[in-house]
Amino acid sequence: MSHDLAKIRKTLKAHKADVLAARESSAGERAPQELDQTRVGRLSRMDALQAQAMSEALDQRRGVELRRIDAALERIDGGEYGFCMTCGDPIELKRLELDPATAQCAGCAA
Ligand SMILES: [Zn+2]
Repeated sequence: MSHDLAKIRKTLKAHKADVLAARESSAGERAPQELDQTRVGRLSRMDALQAQAMSEALDQRRGVELRRIDAALERIDGGEYGFCMTCGDPIELKRLELDPATAQCAGCAA
C-alpha cells in the first residue's frame, strides 16, 4: 500500500472539524420550538415540527459520520487503514480518494 497517511489523516481531521462546526451551528435549531399560538396556524406548526425532525435526522447523520471518521483515524494509527474491515482485502484507491473514511471494499459495500 502506498497511501499518503499523513495527508489522509489531515483530510479526515479537516472533515471532522467541518462536521463538528456544522453540528455546533445548528444546535440552536434543535431546541424545542417556541410557537406563537396567535400567529402560527396548524400548517406552519407542522412545518416547524417537520423542520425540527429533519434537523434531528441531519444531526444523527453527522454523528454517524463522526464515528466513521474516528474509526478511520484509529485504523491509521493501528496500521489497518486501507484494508476492508469485512474481507481484509485492500480497498480500491479510487474509493478511498472519494471517501477517505470508507471501511469496506467495493465488493463488500455493495
Ligand atoms: Zn471487502
